[in-house]
Amino acid sequence: MWIVPEAAINGLLDHDDAFTAIEAVFGAMARDDAYNFPVVREALGGGRQYGFKSGLDRAGGQLGVKAGGYFPGNADKGMINHQSTVFLFDPDTGVLQAAVGGNLLTALRTAAASAVSIAHLARKDAKVLGMIGAGHQSAFQMRAAVRQRRFEKVVGWNYHPEMLPRLADTAAELGLPFEAVSLEELGAQADVIVSITSSEAASLMDAHVRPGTHIACMGTDTKGKQELEPAILTRAAVFTDEVAQAVSIGECQHAVAQGLLTDAAITAIGAVINGAHPGRTSDDQITVFDGTGVGLQDIAVAARAVDLAREKGLAQEVAL
Ligand code: NAD
Repeated sequence: MWIVPEAAINGLLDHDDAFTAIEAVFGAMARDDAYNFPVVREALGGGRQYGFKSGLDRAGGQLGVKAGGYFPGNADKGMINHQSTVFLFDPDTGVLQAAVGGNLLTALRTAAASAVSIAHLARKDAKVLGMIGAGHQSAFQMRAAVRQRRFEKVVGWNYHPEMLPRLADTAAELGLPFEAVSLEELGAQADVIVSITSSEAASLMDAHVRPGTHIACMGTDTKGKQELEPAILTRAAVFTDEVAQAVSIGECQHAVAQGLLTDAAITAIGAVINGAHPGRTSDDQITVFDGTGVGLQDIAVAARAVDLAREKGLAQEVAL
């Protein structure tokens, strides 16, 4: 089997590699060539969360699992709080093929998912990118998003204003002007909004969102989290990575619970990728992508990481 350590991931996989892997696996999911297994998630006490996200990608020839979670005491020990590892198995024999550090991969695959949604759903003439959230994931999200349209400016809002320098610094790195704004101003200016917070109450309200906006809602990956006022979802065409996750742990959970949205009104983005759904149908339409984060995303980028690491001599081979 191959080991690709966490330290080898940095610089191995770029945003384009991740985009290609995620677009392909979303397409495979919508053709029923790939499916995710039920997610296991356990609270271990003391704020610790541990779980498994797994699936089979018949089209890509991958079977795997991401094991990991959130360990709030890690920061005091000099480690990051989110820890994960992806294990890949031969889908025909079940033999373990690779163990891959999953921390940076998680950020890359999550950013790739919203980038795929922007590529397929945002207006072609989108010029202003709005960022809600300035935590760890936000920089990855911005870097992946700006590759999809000719953005001329980034506007940002964060619940904790002291974190806004992360957005300003990332925009500067990308050569784009940045302006910290109110949510009202963000909605008025942005053509594309990426929301990536751990909030448990809506930040972006229906009144903030103007026609034609694309919203990639990426922070809500657990029951109880929320970023958007549910009324936005009734006005918008709603897309997701996986409908079952969107209605249970994704942003759609709230609109569905309030009877404002049905499963049938939510489209897997893979259908758009495959050409089976038109996606955006007018410049005035609001589109929302509810990115909940599925195991097949982790498996897809981990498989690509193994290929690249082997090519570059960065993978270690061990006998199990
Ligand atoms: P982080 O802890 O580094 O940052 C948290 C962000 O949420 C900050 O911007 C913070 O200001 C904001 N926030 C906290 N409380 C808020 C509130 N009450 N109202 C509005 N904003 C608030 O976290 P991160 O690593 O950047 O992750 C952000 C979110 O993305 C988390 O919820 C995480 O679970 C989720 N996530 C989703 C996926 C996916 O695939 N969809 C993948 C990875 C992470």
